Amino acid sequence: MNEKSEGTHQLVFLGSGGPFPLPQFFCSCAICNAARLDPAERRTRASVALIGEEVTLIDAGPDLEMQLERESISKIDNIFITHWHYDHIAGLGAIGYPQALCGWKPIDIYIPEKLLTHFSHELEYLKEQIILHPLHLGENISLPDADWKVVKTSHTENSVGFIIDSKIKVAYLVDTTLPPEDTIQEIVDTDVLILDAMFDSLDTKWRHFTVQEAIDFWKKTSIPDCILTHLSCHRWENRQWVAGFSFE
Ligand SMILES: [Zn+2]
Ligand SMILES: [Zn+2]
Ligand SMILES: [Zn+2]
Repeated sequence: MNEKSEGTHQLVFLGSGGPFPLPQFFCSCAICNAARLDPAERRTRASVALIGEEVTLIDAGPDLEMQLERESISKIDNIFITHWHYDHIAGLGAIGYPQALCGWKPIDIYIPEKLLTHFSHELEYLKEQIILHPLHLGENISLPDADWKVVKTSHTENSVGFIIDSKIKVAYLVDTTLPPEDTIQEIVDTDVLILDAMFDSLDTKWRHFTVQEAIDFWKKTSIPDCILTHLSCHRWENRQWVAGFSFE
């Protein structure tokens, strides 16, 4: 067990949706209509917050401010970025104003090194509000609430996942298809696998697991628990998968 296990930690799911929220404004399918009628059926973009001595987010998608408000999270200390896709980074533009207004220390942003140029090109106005930390594969970052290890995912050239070693050891692999062998070796001793399961059925055009592929991958590991995220849910009814998969 990690020496940082004292104190109260929570890993909160800010969102478990895919690249689009549920309901989707342009869609009138039964699933989206159910989500319009029942807030419990709605999903926002995938993100988690580790809450302890500090507040550390993984990704900052377009739903960020609403997610923080919903969970009564009133400050941000650190943000780890998995990759530069809209559903994971569009909320970054909103963090400068509260940092300046509330007088927080600059927000530490941990991001794959090759993505740093986005800040000088697109988010230059945040430079007083943030401190950028380039991430490298295999690197360990020690923060007050957890040790963070950077592992490669199979999604984009620079996409990464994280192993969060705190009270328990959690692997967060989103977005991804079958991870590289090095990553599979790194996650073998984790307690919980949080895994991309975006597609309801096979679509090899995009580099994401389907629900069935994600479950099959997890079953081949000895990781005790798996939580699926980055879900599109477009064939789900009553919050359940109905395509006939067996989940034993
Ligand atoms: Zn995504
Ligand atoms: Zn729909
Ligand atoms: Zn992506």
